[in-house]
Amino acid sequence: MFDFNFPNKLIKELIFPSICGVCLKNKPNHIGICEECHSNMLEIPPPNCVGCGGALDGVIDLCQECLHNPRPWEKAYSLYEFKSLPRQTILGLKYGGNILYANILSKLIVAKWPASKFVDHYDFIAPVPLHWFKKMQRGYNQSELIARELSELYCLTYLNALSRIKWTQSQTSLTRRKRRKNLKQAFEVKQSINLTSKSVLLIDDVLTTGSTLAACTDKLIAAGCDYVGVLTIARG
Ligand SMILES: [Zn+2]
Ligand SMILES: [Zn+2]
Repeated sequence: MFDFNFPNKLIKELIFPSICGVCLKNKPNHIGICEECHSNMLEIPPPNCVGCGGALDGVIDLCQECLHNPRPWEKAYSLYEFKSLPRQTILGLKYGGNILYANILSKLIVAKWPASKFVDHYDFIAPVPLHWFKKMQRGYNQSELIARELSELYCLTYLNALSRIKWTQSQTSLTRRKRRKNLKQAFEVKQSINLTSKSVLLIDDVLTTGSTLAACTDKLIAAGCDYVGVLTIARG
């Protein structure tokens, strides 16, 4: 028989979950995950590379990769390395339809970097876009979900500034040079948007080679942006 209280229970469960959103077993904390899962989300320890957010082992503030491959953005933040539980949750969000992870991962970001870090520095928060066909296939863009959550949590204006206009083949098997060439004309800033002298915090799930984020940053700068920062859940 239909439980007429079900809609109320569902709403209550979404606002005050009674189980961890990751392991679906233990009692969650205020972020929506249990203490055990939270302790398995190992953050990249400081000091961090300003180019990619990864760990540093030298005396300068850039890792070897960023030193040899200069980034067009001013500063990058990455919370986790793309492995173990952070990897599982990102893949669950990206391919498994677990859109609740966008909320949990965004709250973990805010627990690490409070609003005061970004609010005075950025005018807009913007996601890396998906091609419309890929978004239609997946049903959503995971970076958009994270950017929307973060815009609410940080009280920063959400702006869907970019479109992906070119369908590109999978980037993983390509060399850095080919990847860059491939992505060069893949994005554009939406015509109606004025970014002159604005600062944008660009959001993506993972920074691997950084080619996609670089292509987006190039377009934002060409459109007049004077400061672009990059925030990703993980450094791949
Ligand atoms: Zn758990
Ligand atoms: Zn780096």
